[in-house]
Amino acid sequence: MTTKIIHFTVNGAQETAELEPDCSAADVKDVFWAAAEAEPDHILKLYSVDGVVLNISPLLEANSRDSSYRLEVVASDPKSVGMPNELEAMEHRLQQLEGRVLGEAGQPRGAVCDLTSQVESFKKKLESVKHLSWMGLFKEDGDHQLEASRKTSSSPMSAQQEHQQVRRKFLNMSSLQVTEEVREHLKTPTFDNWQWEEAEMLVLLQVIFTDLDFLTAFHIRLDVLQNFLFQVFCHYNNIPFHNFRHCFCVTQMMYGLIWLTDLKSKVSRMDLLVMLTSALCHDLDHPGYNNVFQINAQTDLALRYNDISPLENHHCAVAFGIMAQPECNILKNLSSDQYKHIRGGMIRCILATDMARHNEILHKFKSIQPVFNFTNREHKEVLMKIMMKVSDISNEARPMAVAEPWLDCLLQEFFNQSDTEKLKGLPVASFMDRDKVSKPSSQTGFIRFVLLPLFTEITKLFPCLEEHILEPVRRALDFYSDLERASKQEEEEGRSSSAGAAGAALL
Ligand SMILES: [Zn+2]
Repeated sequence: MTTKIIHFTVNGAQETAELEPDCSAADVKDVFWAAAEAEPDHILKLYSVDGVVLNISPLLEANSRDSSYRLEVVASDPKSVGMPNELEAMEHRLQQLEGRVLGEAGQPRGAVCDLTSQVESFKKKLESVKHLSWMGLFKEDGDHQLEASRKTSSSPMSAQQEHQQVRRKFLNMSSLQVTEEVREHLKTPTFDNWQWEEAEMLVLLQVIFTDLDFLTAFHIRLDVLQNFLFQVFCHYNNIPFHNFRHCFCVTQMMYGLIWLTDLKSKVSRMDLLVMLTSALCHDLDHPGYNNVFQINAQTDLALRYNDISPLENHHCAVAFGIMAQPECNILKNLSSDQYKHIRGGMIRCILATDMARHNEILHKFKSIQPVFNFTNREHKEVLMKIMMKVSDISNEARPMAVAEPWLDCLLQEFFNQSDTEKLKGLPVASFMDRDKVSKPSSQTGFIRFVLLPLFTEITKLFPCLEEHILEPVRRALDFYSDLERASKQEEEEGRSSSAGAAGAALL
Protein backbone atom coordinates (compact mmCIF):
# COMPACT_ATOMS: atom_id res chain seq x y z
CA MET A 1 0.00 0.00 0.00
CA THR A 2 1.24 3.47 -0.82
CA THR A 3 0.39 6.96 0.34
CA LYS A 4 -2.99 8.09 -0.96
CA ILE A 5 -3.36 11.57 -2.38
CA ILE A 6 -6.74 13.17 -1.85
CA HIS A 7 -7.59 16.29 -3.85
CA PHE A 8 -10.31 18.49 -2.46
CA THR A 9 -11.55 22.05 -2.32
CA VAL A 10 -12.40 23.93 0.82
CA ASN A 11 -13.48 27.55 1.17
CA GLY A 12 -12.78 27.96 -2.56
CA ALA A 13 -9.16 26.83 -2.28
CA GLN A 14 -7.68 23.73 -3.91
CA GLU A 15 -5.99 21.47 -1.37
CA THR A 16 -4.36 18.07 -1.25
CA ALA A 17 -4.02 15.67 1.64
CA GLU A 18 -1.65 12.73 1.88
CA LEU A 19 -2.99 9.74 3.75
CA GLU A 20 -0.39 7.28 4.92
CA PRO A 21 -1.41 3.59 4.56
CA ASP A 22 -1.41 3.10 8.32
CA CYS A 23 -3.13 6.31 9.32
CA SER A 24 -5.99 6.15 11.81
CA ALA A 25 -9.48 7.60 11.48
CA ALA A 26 -8.44 10.26 13.96
CA ASP A 27 -5.44 11.20 11.78
CA VAL A 28 -7.69 11.61 8.74
CA LYS A 29 -10.14 13.72 10.69
CA ASP A 30 -7.28 15.90 11.98
CA VAL A 31 -6.07 16.58 8.45
CA PHE A 32 -9.49 17.69 7.20
CA TRP A 33 -10.31 19.69 10.33
CA ALA A 34 -7.00 21.53 10.01
CA ALA A 35 -7.51 22.13 6.28
CA ALA A 36 -10.97 23.56 6.91
CA GLU A 37 -9.71 25.57 9.87
CA ALA A 38 -12.69 24.10 11.67
CA GLU A 39 -13.51 24.34 15.34
CA PRO A 40 -13.70 21.05 17.25
CA ASP A 41 -17.49 21.26 17.47
CA HIS A 42 -17.93 21.77 13.73
CA ILE A 43 -19.25 19.00 11.57
CA LEU A 44 -17.47 18.56 8.27
CA LYS A 45 -19.08 17.06 5.24
CA LEU A 46 -17.12 15.80 2.26
CA TYR A 47 -18.84 15.49 -1.10
CA SER A 48 -17.82 13.66 -4.27
CA VAL A 49 -18.09 15.46 -7.64
CA ASP A 50 -21.57 13.96 -7.93
CA GLY A 51 -22.60 15.55 -4.66
CA VAL A 52 -22.60 12.25 -2.75
CA VAL A 53 -21.58 12.60 0.91
CA LEU A 54 -18.40 10.63 1.61
CA ASN A 55 -17.23 9.21 4.89
CA ILE A 56 -14.12 10.98 6.15
CA SER A 57 -12.08 7.90 7.04
CA PRO A 58 -8.87 6.09 6.10
CA LEU A 59 -10.91 4.20 3.50
CA LEU A 60 -11.43 7.37 1.48
CA GLU A 61 -10.57 6.69 -2.15
CA ALA A 62 -7.70 8.50 -3.80
CA ASN A 63 -8.77 10.84 -6.60
CA SER A 64 -7.35 13.21 -9.18
CA ARG A 65 -7.41 16.99 -9.25
CA ASP A 66 -10.15 16.78 -11.89
CA SER A 67 -12.37 14.80 -9.56
CA SER A 68 -11.64 16.87 -6.46
CA TYR A 69 -13.88 16.31 -3.48
CA ARG A 70 -15.57 19.29 -1.85
CA LEU A 71 -15.14 19.82 1.88
CA GLU A 72 -17.73 21.91 3.68
CA VAL A 73 -17.94 23.07 7.24
CA VAL A 74 -21.41 22.70 8.66
CA ALA A 75 -20.95 25.83 10.68
CA SER A 76 -22.00 26.17 14.24
CA ASP A 77 -21.29 29.09 16.52
CA PRO A 78 -17.55 28.94 17.19
CA LYS A 79 -18.25 30.30 20.65
CA SER A 80 -20.55 27.40 21.48
CA VAL A 81 -17.76 25.21 22.78
CA GLY A 82 -17.08 27.94 25.26
CA MET A 83 -13.33 27.51 25.19
CA PRO A 84 -11.48 29.91 27.38
CA ASN A 85 -10.24 32.83 25.25
CA GLU A 86 -6.63 31.94 25.79
CA LEU A 87 -7.13 28.39 24.53
CA GLU A 88 -9.18 29.56 21.62
CA ALA A 89 -6.45 31.94 20.52
CA MET A 90 -3.89 29.22 21.04
CA GLU A 91 -5.84 26.77 18.98
CA HIS A 92 -6.07 29.26 16.16
CA ARG A 93 -2.34 29.79 16.36
CA LEU A 94 -1.81 26.02 16.32
CA GLN A 95 -3.80 25.67 13.15
CA GLN A 96 -1.72 28.36 11.50
CA LEU A 97 1.44 26.69 12.68
CA GLU A 98 0.29 23.33 11.42
CA GLY A 99 -0.34 24.92 8.06
CA ARG A 100 3.14 26.35 8.04
CA VAL A 101 4.71 23.02 8.93
CA LEU A 102 2.87 21.38 6.08
CA GLY A 103 3.58 24.14 3.61
CA GLU A 104 7.22 24.77 4.51
CA ALA A 105 8.54 21.28 4.94
CA GLY A 106 11.91 22.51 3.77
CA GLN A 107 12.26 25.07 6.57
CA PRO A 108 15.34 25.11 8.74
CA ARG A 109 15.23 22.82 11.76
CA GLY A 110 15.10 25.72 14.20
CA ALA A 111 11.70 26.83 12.94
CA VAL A 112 10.30 23.33 13.24
CA CYS A 113 11.59 23.08 16.81
CA ASP A 114 9.92 26.34 17.63
CA LEU A 115 6.63 25.06 16.23
CA THR A 116 6.95 21.75 18.01
CA SER A 117 7.48 23.36 21.38
CA GLN A 118 4.43 25.55 20.84
CA VAL A 119 2.35 22.55 19.85
CA GLU A 120 3.60 20.77 22.95
CA SER A 121 2.59 23.62 25.20
CA PHE A 122 -0.83 23.69 23.55
CA LYS A 123 -1.19 19.99 24.18
CA LYS A 124 -0.36 20.53 27.84
CA LYS A 125 -3.15 23.07 27.95
CA LEU A 126 -5.55 20.58 26.46
CA GLU A 127 -4.51 17.98 28.97
CA SER A 128 -5.50 20.27 31.80
CA VAL A 129 -8.94 21.27 30.53
CA LYS A 130 -11.58 18.71 31.38
CA HIS A 131 -14.08 20.27 29.02
CA LEU A 132 -11.94 19.01 26.14
CA SER A 133 -11.66 15.50 27.56
CA TRP A 134 -13.33 14.08 24.47
CA MET A 135 -10.06 14.70 22.64
CA GLY A 136 -8.64 11.94 24.80
CA LEU A 137 -5.83 14.13 26.04
CA PHE A 138 -7.18 15.19 29.41
CA LYS A 139 -5.17 13.89 32.36
CA GLU A 140 -6.97 13.58 35.65
CA ASP A 141 -5.04 14.33 38.81
CA GLY A 142 -7.66 13.80 41.46
CA ASP A 143 -10.33 11.30 42.26
CA HIS A 144 -13.23 13.40 41.06
CA GLN A 145 -13.46 11.49 37.77
CA LEU A 146 -14.85 8.60 39.74
CA GLU A 147 -17.95 10.49 40.67
CA ALA A 148 -21.13 9.15 39.22
CA SER A 149 -22.88 12.34 38.36
CA ARG A 150 -22.26 14.31 35.20
CA LYS A 151 -19.23 16.44 35.79
CA THR A 152 -17.39 16.52 32.50
CA SER A 153 -16.93 20.23 32.35
CA SER A 154 -14.82 22.62 34.33
CA SER A 155 -16.97 25.42 32.96
CA PRO A 156 -20.59 24.27 33.33
CA MET A 157 -21.97 27.43 31.73
CA SER A 158 -20.30 26.71 28.43
CA ALA A 159 -21.54 23.12 28.40
CA GLN A 160 -25.01 24.42 29.07
CA GLN A 161 -24.73 26.95 26.27
CA GLU A 162 -23.60 24.20 23.95
CA HIS A 163 -26.59 22.06 24.91
CA GLN A 164 -29.00 24.95 24.50
CA GLN A 165 -27.73 25.54 21.01
CA VAL A 166 -28.41 21.90 20.12
CA ARG A 167 -31.87 22.26 21.66
CA ARG A 168 -32.64 25.33 19.56
CA LYS A 169 -31.48 23.62 16.38
CA PHE A 170 -33.43 20.46 17.25
CA LEU A 171 -36.66 22.33 17.88
CA ASN A 172 -36.25 24.45 14.76
CA MET A 173 -35.60 21.43 12.62
CA SER A 174 -38.17 19.08 14.06
CA SER A 175 -40.97 20.72 12.13
CA LEU A 176 -39.10 20.09 8.90
CA GLN A 177 -39.88 17.02 6.91
CA VAL A 178 -37.30 14.25 7.09
CA THR A 179 -37.25 12.85 3.56
CA GLU A 180 -38.82 9.52 2.74
CA GLU A 181 -35.43 8.27 1.60
CA VAL A 182 -33.85 8.99 5.01
CA ARG A 183 -36.83 7.45 6.82
CA GLU A 184 -36.42 4.24 4.84
CA HIS A 185 -32.66 4.16 5.36
CA LEU A 186 -33.21 4.67 9.09
CA LYS A 187 -34.89 1.24 9.14
CA THR A 188 -31.75 -0.56 7.98
CA PRO A 189 -28.49 -1.64 9.67
CA THR A 190 -26.53 0.12 6.91
CA PHE A 191 -27.52 3.58 8.17
CA ASP A 192 -24.45 5.83 8.49
CA ASN A 193 -24.52 7.64 11.83
CA TRP A 194 -21.42 9.70 11.07
CA GLN A 195 -23.21 12.03 8.66
CA TRP A 196 -25.45 13.57 11.29
CA GLU A 197 -24.86 16.19 13.93
CA GLU A 198 -26.43 16.01 17.38
CA ALA A 199 -29.54 18.09 16.68
CA GLU A 200 -30.19 16.02 13.54
CA MET A 201 -29.88 12.78 15.49
CA LEU A 202 -32.47 14.12 17.95
CA VAL A 203 -34.83 14.76 15.04
CA LEU A 204 -34.25 11.23 13.75
CA LEU A 205 -34.98 9.78 17.21
CA GLN A 206 -38.19 11.78 17.21
CA VAL A 207 -39.03 10.25 13.82
CA ILE A 208 -38.44 6.77 15.27
CA PHE A 209 -40.82 7.40 18.17
CA THR A 210 -43.52 9.03 16.06
CA ASP A 211 -43.20 6.47 13.28
CA LEU A 212 -44.08 3.62 15.66
CA ASP A 213 -47.14 5.61 16.69
CA PHE A 214 -46.05 5.88 20.32
CA LEU A 215 -47.42 9.42 20.63
CA THR A 216 -50.98 8.42 19.84
CA ALA A 217 -50.87 5.03 21.56
CA PHE A 218 -49.46 6.31 24.86
CA HIS A 219 -50.82 9.88 24.79
CA ILE A 220 -47.34 11.42 24.68
CA ARG A 221 -47.34 15.12 23.85
CA LEU A 222 -44.77 16.08 21.22
CA ASP A 223 -43.17 18.72 23.47
CA VAL A 224 -42.81 16.14 26.26
CA LEU A 225 -41.13 13.69 23.88
CA GLN A 226 -38.81 16.47 22.72
CA ASN A 227 -37.95 17.45 26.31
CA PHE A 228 -37.29 13.81 27.13
CA LEU A 229 -35.05 13.27 24.08
CA PHE A 230 -33.16 16.47 24.82
CA GLN A 231 -32.56 15.46 28.46
CA VAL A 232 -31.34 12.05 27.31
CA PHE A 233 -28.89 13.85 25.02
CA CYS A 234 -27.73 16.09 27.91
CA HIS A 235 -27.09 13.10 30.17
CA TYR A 236 -24.63 11.39 27.84
CA ASN A 237 -21.03 12.44 28.46
CA ASN A 238 -18.39 13.68 26.04
CA ILE A 239 -16.35 10.50 26.10
CA PRO A 240 -14.85 8.62 23.14
CA PHE A 241 -17.30 5.71 22.87
CA HIS A 242 -20.22 5.59 25.31
CA ASN A 243 -21.60 8.93 24.17
CA PHE A 244 -24.84 10.20 22.65
CA ARG A 245 -23.86 8.98 19.18
CA HIS A 246 -23.54 5.43 20.56
CA CYS A 247 -26.99 5.84 22.14
CA PHE A 248 -28.32 6.93 18.75
CA CYS A 249 -26.69 3.96 16.96
CA VAL A 250 -28.06 1.40 19.40
CA THR A 251 -31.56 2.87 19.21
CA GLN A 252 -31.40 3.02 15.42
CA MET A 253 -30.23 -0.62 15.24
CA MET A 254 -33.07 -1.65 17.56
CA TYR A 255 -35.50 0.20 15.27
CA GLY A 256 -33.94 -1.54 12.24
CA LEU A 257 -34.25 -4.96 13.89
CA ILE A 258 -37.90 -4.28 14.76
CA TRP A 259 -38.60 -3.59 11.08
CA LEU A 260 -36.53 -6.43 9.66
CA THR A 261 -38.11 -9.02 11.97
CA ASP A 262 -41.61 -7.55 11.65
CA LEU A 263 -41.72 -7.51 15.43
CA LYS A 264 -44.71 -5.14 15.31
CA SER A 265 -46.88 -8.10 14.43
CA LYS A 266 -45.42 -10.31 17.16
CA VAL A 267 -45.14 -8.25 20.36
CA SER A 268 -47.26 -5.49 21.89
CA ARG A 269 -46.63 -1.83 21.19
CA MET A 270 -45.85 -1.43 24.87
CA ASP A 271 -42.97 -3.90 24.52
CA LEU A 272 -41.71 -1.99 21.49
CA LEU A 273 -41.74 1.17 23.63
CA VAL A 274 -39.77 -0.70 26.31
CA MET A 275 -37.17 -1.81 23.78
CA LEU A 276 -36.64 1.55 22.12
CA THR A 277 -36.66 3.56 25.35
CA SER A 278 -34.23 1.07 26.90
CA ALA A 279 -31.93 1.41 23.90
CA LEU A 280 -32.09 5.20 24.23
CA CYS A 281 -31.29 5.15 27.96
CA HIS A 282 -29.02 2.12 28.24
CA ASP A 283 -25.70 3.99 28.74
CA LEU A 284 -26.91 7.28 30.31
CA ASP A 285 -24.16 9.16 32.15
CA HIS A 286 -21.55 6.50 31.32
CA PRO A 287 -18.29 7.79 32.84
CA GLY A 288 -16.02 6.02 30.30
CA TYR A 289 -14.67 3.53 32.85
CA ASN A 290 -16.21 0.06 32.99
CA ASN A 291 -17.67 -1.97 35.87
CA VAL A 292 -14.39 -3.72 36.61
CA PHE A 293 -12.77 -0.33 37.11
CA GLN A 294 -15.67 0.88 39.25
CA ILE A 295 -15.34 -2.15 41.49
CA ASN A 296 -11.52 -2.20 41.68
CA ALA A 297 -11.33 1.54 42.33
CA GLN A 298 -14.21 1.30 44.82
CA THR A 299 -16.00 4.23 43.23
CA ASP A 300 -19.19 5.83 44.53
CA LEU A 301 -21.14 3.81 41.94
CA ALA A 302 -19.68 0.49 43.07
CA LEU A 303 -20.39 1.39 46.70
CA ARG A 304 -23.95 2.47 45.93
CA TYR A 305 -24.81 -0.70 43.99
CA ASN A 306 -22.73 -3.19 46.02
CA ASP A 307 -20.58 -4.11 43.00
CA ILE A 308 -23.66 -5.50 41.20
CA SER A 309 -23.74 -4.08 37.63
CA PRO A 310 -22.94 -0.61 39.02
CA LEU A 311 -23.01 1.11 35.62
CA GLU A 312 -26.19 -0.50 34.28
CA ASN A 313 -28.00 0.20 37.55
CA HIS A 314 -26.87 3.80 37.27
CA HIS A 315 -27.93 4.19 33.61
CA CYS A 316 -31.38 2.92 34.50
CA ALA A 317 -31.69 5.10 37.61
CA VAL A 318 -30.71 8.17 35.56
CA ALA A 319 -33.38 7.28 32.98
CA PHE A 320 -36.14 7.20 35.58
CA GLY A 321 -34.66 10.32 37.18
CA ILE A 322 -35.20 12.15 33.88
CA MET A 323 -38.76 10.85 33.67
CA ALA A 324 -39.39 11.99 37.26
CA GLN A 325 -39.56 15.51 35.82
CA PRO A 326 -43.17 15.94 34.63
CA GLU A 327 -42.17 17.96 31.53
CA CYS A 328 -39.96 15.02 30.39
CA ASN A 329 -42.16 12.16 31.52
CA ILE A 330 -43.24 10.32 28.40
CA LEU A 331 -44.94 7.72 30.63
CA LYS A 332 -47.12 10.12 32.61
CA ASN A 333 -50.39 9.38 30.82
CA LEU A 334 -50.16 5.61 31.25
CA SER A 335 -52.19 3.59 33.73
CA SER A 336 -50.28 2.36 36.78
CA ASP A 337 -50.26 -1.18 35.37
CA GLN A 338 -48.84 0.03 32.07
CA TYR A 339 -46.21 2.08 33.91
CA LYS A 340 -45.24 -0.94 36.02
CA HIS A 341 -44.91 -3.09 32.89
CA ILE A 342 -42.70 -0.54 31.15
CA ARG A 343 -40.55 0.17 34.20
CA GLY A 344 -40.01 -3.55 34.82
CA GLY A 345 -39.19 -4.14 31.16
CA MET A 346 -36.73 -1.25 30.96
CA ILE A 347 -34.93 -2.34 34.12
CA ARG A 348 -34.58 -5.88 32.72
CA CYS A 349 -33.40 -4.69 29.30
CA ILE A 350 -30.88 -2.14 30.59
CA LEU A 351 -29.44 -4.47 33.25
CA ALA A 352 -29.09 -7.13 30.51
CA THR A 353 -26.46 -4.97 28.77
CA ASP A 354 -23.88 -5.84 31.45
CA MET A 355 -21.50 -8.06 29.46
CA ALA A 356 -20.68 -9.97 32.65
CA ARG A 357 -24.13 -11.54 32.21
CA HIS A 358 -23.61 -12.35 28.51
CA ASN A 359 -23.29 -16.14 28.85
CA GLU A 360 -26.13 -16.41 31.34
CA ILE A 361 -28.57 -14.59 29.04
CA LEU A 362 -27.40 -16.28 25.84
CA HIS A 363 -27.61 -19.68 27.49
CA LYS A 364 -31.16 -18.99 28.63
CA PHE A 365 -32.15 -17.92 25.10
CA LYS A 366 -30.56 -21.05 23.61
CA SER A 367 -32.48 -23.27 26.00
CA ILE A 368 -35.89 -21.82 25.04
CA GLN A 369 -35.08 -21.49 21.33
CA PRO A 370 -36.50 -24.91 20.27
CA VAL A 371 -39.88 -24.16 21.86
CA PHE A 372 -39.90 -20.38 21.49
CA ASN A 373 -43.37 -18.92 21.74
CA PHE A 374 -44.18 -15.22 21.37
CA THR A 375 -47.17 -15.56 23.66
CA ASN A 376 -45.03 -16.92 26.50
CA ARG A 377 -44.14 -13.97 28.76
CA GLU A 378 -40.85 -15.43 29.92
CA HIS A 379 -39.75 -16.25 26.36
CA LYS A 380 -40.60 -12.75 25.22
CA GLU A 381 -38.67 -11.16 28.06
CA VAL A 382 -35.54 -13.14 27.19
CA LEU A 383 -35.95 -12.15 23.52
CA MET A 384 -36.17 -8.48 24.50
CA LYS A 385 -32.92 -8.78 26.45
CA ILE A 386 -31.28 -10.49 23.48
CA MET A 387 -32.49 -7.79 21.05
CA MET A 388 -31.08 -5.17 23.41
CA LYS A 389 -27.73 -6.97 23.57
CA VAL A 390 -27.58 -7.42 19.80
CA SER A 391 -28.30 -3.73 19.23
CA ASP A 392 -25.72 -2.69 21.82
CA ILE A 393 -22.82 -4.60 20.27
CA SER A 394 -23.85 -4.43 16.63
CA ASN A 395 -21.24 -2.05 15.23
CA GLU A 396 -19.45 -4.82 13.34
CA ALA A 397 -22.74 -5.67 11.59
CA ARG A 398 -22.60 -2.25 9.96
CA PRO A 399 -20.70 -1.38 6.77
CA MET A 400 -16.95 -1.25 7.36
CA ALA A 401 -16.77 2.51 6.79
CA VAL A 402 -19.32 3.01 9.58
CA ALA A 403 -18.01 0.35 11.94
CA GLU A 404 -14.30 1.02 11.72
CA PRO A 405 -14.22 4.51 13.30
CA TRP A 406 -16.21 3.10 16.25
CA LEU A 407 -13.38 0.70 16.95
CA ASP A 408 -10.97 3.62 17.23
CA CYS A 409 -13.40 5.27 19.68
CA LEU A 410 -13.68 2.11 21.76
CA LEU A 411 -9.93 1.56 21.92
CA GLN A 412 -9.47 5.21 22.86
CA GLU A 413 -11.85 4.75 25.79
CA PHE A 414 -10.16 1.47 26.78
CA PHE A 415 -6.72 3.08 26.65
CA ASN A 416 -7.89 5.99 28.79
CA GLN A 417 -9.07 3.47 31.37
CA SER A 418 -5.93 1.31 31.33
CA ASP A 419 -3.70 4.39 31.54
CA THR A 420 -5.61 5.47 34.65
CA GLU A 421 -5.42 1.94 36.07
CA LYS A 422 -1.67 1.89 35.59
CA LEU A 423 -1.35 5.25 37.33
CA LYS A 424 -3.46 4.05 40.24
CA GLY A 425 -1.82 0.65 40.48
CA LEU A 426 -5.06 -1.16 39.66
CA PRO A 427 -5.25 -4.40 37.61
CA VAL A 428 -5.21 -3.80 33.83
CA ALA A 429 -7.11 -6.05 31.40
CA SER A 430 -4.88 -6.93 28.45
CA PHE A 431 -7.63 -6.13 25.90
CA MET A 432 -7.54 -2.54 27.14
CA ASP A 433 -3.77 -2.18 27.29
CA ARG A 434 -2.31 0.02 24.54
CA ASP A 435 0.93 -1.98 24.77
CA LYS A 436 -0.78 -5.30 24.14
CA VAL A 437 -3.71 -4.74 21.82
CA SER A 438 -3.99 -3.96 18.11
CA LYS A 439 -7.13 -3.30 16.12
CA PRO A 440 -7.29 -6.72 14.44
CA SER A 441 -6.41 -8.68 17.57
CA SER A 442 -9.06 -6.81 19.56
CA GLN A 443 -11.75 -7.78 17.06
CA THR A 444 -11.10 -11.37 15.98
CA GLY A 445 -11.66 -12.88 19.43
CA PHE A 446 -14.64 -10.64 20.17
CA ILE A 447 -16.33 -11.50 16.88
CA ARG A 448 -15.59 -15.23 17.13
CA PHE A 449 -16.54 -15.79 20.73
CA VAL A 450 -19.13 -13.10 21.49
CA LEU A 451 -20.76 -11.72 18.35
CA LEU A 452 -21.08 -14.80 16.17
CA PRO A 453 -22.63 -17.08 18.84
CA LEU A 454 -25.13 -14.33 19.78
CA PHE A 455 -26.01 -13.34 16.22
CA THR A 456 -26.28 -16.99 15.17
CA GLU A 457 -28.82 -17.64 17.91
CA ILE A 458 -31.06 -14.70 17.02
CA THR A 459 -30.80 -15.63 13.34
CA LYS A 460 -32.27 -19.05 14.19
CA LEU A 461 -35.41 -17.27 15.39
CA PHE A 462 -35.36 -14.68 12.59
CA PRO A 463 -33.70 -16.24 9.51
CA CYS A 464 -33.99 -12.94 7.61
CA LEU A 465 -31.26 -11.50 9.86
CA GLU A 466 -28.69 -13.80 8.25
CA GLU A 467 -28.00 -11.36 5.40
CA HIS A 468 -28.43 -8.20 7.48
CA ILE A 469 -26.30 -8.88 10.55
CA LEU A 470 -24.70 -12.34 10.44
CA GLU A 471 -23.10 -12.06 7.00
CA PRO A 472 -21.56 -8.61 7.61
CA VAL A 473 -20.09 -9.86 10.90
CA ARG A 474 -18.59 -12.90 9.15
CA ARG A 475 -17.04 -10.55 6.58
CA ALA A 476 -15.65 -8.37 9.36
CA LEU A 477 -14.08 -11.47 10.94
CA ASP A 478 -12.42 -12.40 7.63
CA PHE A 479 -11.15 -8.86 7.25
CA TYR A 480 -9.64 -8.64 10.73
CA SER A 481 -8.27 -12.21 10.55
CA ASP A 482 -6.42 -11.30 7.33
CA LEU A 483 -5.03 -8.19 8.97
CA GLU A 484 -3.98 -10.14 12.04
CA ARG A 485 -2.20 -12.72 9.89
CA ALA A 486 -0.47 -10.03 7.85
CA SER A 487 0.58 -8.29 11.02
CA LYS A 488 2.07 -11.47 12.50
CA GLN A 489 3.85 -12.26 9.24
CA GLU A 490 5.31 -8.78 9.12
CA GLU A 491 6.53 -9.14 12.66
CA GLU A 492 8.15 -12.50 11.94
CA GLU A 493 9.82 -11.21 8.78
CA GLY A 494 11.04 -8.25 10.77
CA ARG A 495 12.51 -10.55 13.41
CA SER A 496 14.18 -12.90 10.93
CA SER A 497 15.79 -10.14 8.93
CA SER A 498 16.77 -8.30 12.13
CA ALA A 499 15.40 -5.23 10.53
CA GLY A 500 14.45 -3.81 13.86
CA ALA A 501 10.78 -4.04 13.05
CA ALA A 502 9.95 -5.46 16.45
CA GLY A 503 6.94 -3.83 17.96
CA ALA A 504 5.71 -2.44 14.65
CA ALA A 505 1.99 -2.70 14.67
CA LEU A 506 0.13 -2.89 11.41
CA LEU A 507 -2.58 -0.56 12.64
ZN1 LIG B 1 -23.95 0.55 25.00
